[in-house]
Amino acid sequence: MSNNSANQLQDLQYFGEFGGVNPSISDSSTYTFLSAKTMFDTFEGNTEGCYLYSRHSSPSNLYLGEALAALEGTETANVYASGMGAISSVIMQLCDAGDHVVSSRTIYGGTYAFLKNFVKKFAIETSFTDITSIEAVEMSINSRTKMIYCESISNPLLEVADIKALSELAKKHGIPLVVDNTFAPLSIPAAYLGADIVIHSLTKFINGTSDCVAGAVCGTTAFCLGLKDVNNGAGMLLGSTLDSLRAASILKNMRTLHIRMQKHSQNALFLAQKFENDGFRVVYPGIDSHPGHTIMKNQMNTNYGFGGLLTLDVGSLENANALMERMQTQKLGYLAVSLGFYKTLFSAPGTSTSSEIPLEEQLEMGLSNGLIRLSIGLDNDIERTYQTMQECMMQLNIRPQGPVTV
Ligand code: PLP
Repeated sequence: MSNNSANQLQDLQYFGEFGGVNPSISDSSTYTFLSAKTMFDTFEGNTEGCYLYSRHSSPSNLYLGEALAALEGTETANVYASGMGAISSVIMQLCDAGDHVVSSRTIYGGTYAFLKNFVKKFAIETSFTDITSIEAVEMSINSRTKMIYCESISNPLLEVADIKALSELAKKHGIPLVVDNTFAPLSIPAAYLGADIVIHSLTKFINGTSDCVAGAVCGTTAFCLGLKDVNNGAGMLLGSTLDSLRAASILKNMRTLHIRMQKHSQNALFLAQKFENDGFRVVYPGIDSHPGHTIMKNQMNTNYGFGGLLTLDVGSLENANALMERMQTQKLGYLAVSLGFYKTLFSAPGTSTSSEIPLEEQLEMGLSNGLIRLSIGLDNDIERTYQTMQECMMQLNIRPQGPVTV
């Protein structure tokens, strides 16, 4: 697979109002019209190139949207105030009361809670399914199903979705495939592989500096315009629009995404291999023991590697907590949720980002107590990081648990 996305991003060259090398930031919530008729036409969605109100769109949001559309190779993209703002808008836009969603059972805890609990208000039901079994996904589809939802690489178990196969299935049933590609920007070209709508939490790798929350929906012009419709667009009416100042800063950070993804992946692969060789239970899509390794290899853009996330099972929650605290003291990173930062971030998902998932369901999907999710940083000397991690484990008497059984 080629690295077209990074080239397309590089070719987006803007000029600011006074010839600046970055586009000017739109510092207004509302916009003037020279004629009342143009204002009316804009409300009706009939005037191209006119801005109405920044909850609808703004020049800064459109620039960032253009960059995200180039990243995913979609017609266009909308930006939101958070990843959840993007996810909830898409689900509410595609589903009416009484509809049904087929979703992967291993997804980010917030998305899981939204689908399992929140949309009950609208009698929308979700079947949570093993996304790695195309048969199980097909069996879950019924006449009320409005979409298949999954993450390209799932949070936190790092299951790899076969996007091509899921897309064929979705097409066969005439429903869209919605893919959250937060864990694999540039690595997995989700839209190219057949996803109809691609979502990102920009909070993570795409922004990369852990200084804001933001989200994106990449898709067709018709769908993205629908989300902005003043009469029934979920994005416009639920109001989760991104602020222009943030859109401008995320666009600047995106310029280094290709270099950062390469380094995150390189460092994560190094640690995954080392800890697996030491006998630890490691899950990382880049190692042969991962059940989705072949699918990942077939659908990835090799320039950006297997991603920056890995999980390490250290046997118990006590071990996990002690190790994370020790690693933080040793300056290896932060005991914090989220991912995609320049420093390594680690958390025990069962008691944090996936705590919305009931305990028995966590165990059923393989989310064990001792699991630590690590978002590997841009460490300059990863061998040194490995040695310090090893020392932390030895000091705490944390020993390998044996190979992972999936
Ligand atoms: N999607 C994935 C895969 C995530 O990991 C997260 C947050 O951790 C989200 C979506 C939600 O994004 P945000 O926190 O920007 O709302």
